[in-house]
Amino acid sequence: MASERSGDSAGGGEVSPRHRQRSGPIVGGSEAAPDSRQKGGASMKRNDVWVVVEQHDGVAAEVSLELLGRARELAGRLGVQVGAVLIGAGRPVQDLAPALVARGADTVFFVAHTDLAHYLAQPYAQVVSSLIREHEPQIVLYGATTTGRDLAPRVASALRTGLTADCTDLRIGDHAQKGEEYRDLLYQIRPAFGGNIVATIISPLHRPQMATVREGVMVMPDEDRRRDGRIVPIPVTRATERIAVRDGVVLCDEDFAVTLVKRVQEEKRVDLKGARIVVAGGVGVGSREGFALVEDLARTVGGVVGASRAAVDAGWIDHEHQVGQTGTTVRPKLYIACGISGSVQHRAGMDQSARILAINTDPLAPIFSVAHYGVVGDLHKVIPQLIQAYRTKGAGSGAAPAPGQPPAPGAASDGGAS
Ligand code: FAD
Repeated sequence: MASERSGDSAGGGEVSPRHRQRSGPIVGGSEAAPDSRQKGGASMKRNDVWVVVEQHDGVAAEVSLELLGRARELAGRLGVQVGAVLIGAGRPVQDLAPALVARGADTVFFVAHTDLAHYLAQPYAQVVSSLIREHEPQIVLYGATTTGRDLAPRVASALRTGLTADCTDLRIGDHAQKGEEYRDLLYQIRPAFGGNIVATIISPLHRPQMATVREGVMVMPDEDRRRDGRIVPIPVTRATERIAVRDGVVLCDEDFAVTLVKRVQEEKRVDLKGARIVVAGGVGVGSREGFALVEDLARTVGGVVGASRAAVDAGWIDHEHQVGQTGTTVRPKLYIACGISGSVQHRAGMDQSARILAINTDPLAPIFSVAHYGVVGDLHKVIPQLIQAYRTKGAGSGAAPAPGQPPAPGAASDGGAS
């Protein structure tokens, strides 16, 4: 595990000498307050852990709810509370606030205005930056979605703080450097250098510590409708120019340099994340036509077709099927990897599956290191046997193998199981 320090840019680079010379980080235009060297942060005004919630028409993005779960764990370690920032307009968005409490928020900052009905980079960044300046959370988390990736760097830039993009894990830990002890920092963990290392990135000098997190890597917290929480409406003042107000946030005409002309929503055709069984094909499948076999197995076992990036890059299947670091992260009951070597980038998107069955001609393929069941053999022979075995078992017993159980792996006799 390597360690880096995050600076002013997304992805987290070194803290620039300019920043090292400062007496402290700048948060909200004032010399920074939070000093991580003091355990528990007695000098901090507020120290909560925040999640900026993404919602569309009153439906929260799953990654935002997943982040609330992790935020609770981090806040528990730090002895602070969880805040959620909810921006939008209208009843459905308002109704979402209690659901955020049920998933782990102690306070929901609800910013409602008709001009904020749909995501726009500048006004949303203005709202989030203003709230952070006012309340000084020590950690702010965003989903690594298109919206999160657009919003978080703008906020980081406005607050002159660091941001690590695309984290796959978040923890709390200490750091010692040049005689200084930094306590309770956010470890922002993500693959780096093409996935060859897992880097732990920290932001010891700047606040808030910010990260975007990939969908599906954190476990969705259970809903607890009995949880108590506060919903705090934040007044929005619309003005032609930037003005100071006592309470709430100000949005001026400058923030609306871009207007939303039309929204086009495309239906998601492939639901890899919600699939109970994923049957994925890689280079070993051999061709676009070869994927018909993978699709056949997926259809037989009631699964969804996944793919390695190499298969996608070869043009054999669409990107929306891609599993891995730059694709979708999945946690199905059963993942069947067909002709996939198991690169670190692919494993990052599937190694949390409950059961993994790998079919590969190479007994030393890395995929076998994470597989619960392995068949060493040619997938073009093994898959038809699996389909046959599954159908026979289904027809014979009147019941197909339960989801999460591989379809009779022993029936594939092309090679030995590893
Ligand atoms: P290969 O590595 O070529 O493996 C093919 C396997 O098929 C081999 O193990 C071979 O033994 C086996 N095989 C061949 N013929 C047969 C047969 N007839 N029957 C059974 N087995 C057979 N990859 C991803 O998958 N997802 C990502 O999100 C992703 N993101 C990336 C991000 C970055 C920044 C980088 C640098 C790379 C990323 N990659 C990703 C690419 C990754 O490094 C690998 O190149 C890719 O996963 C390899 O795909 P593969 O396993 O299908 O191909």
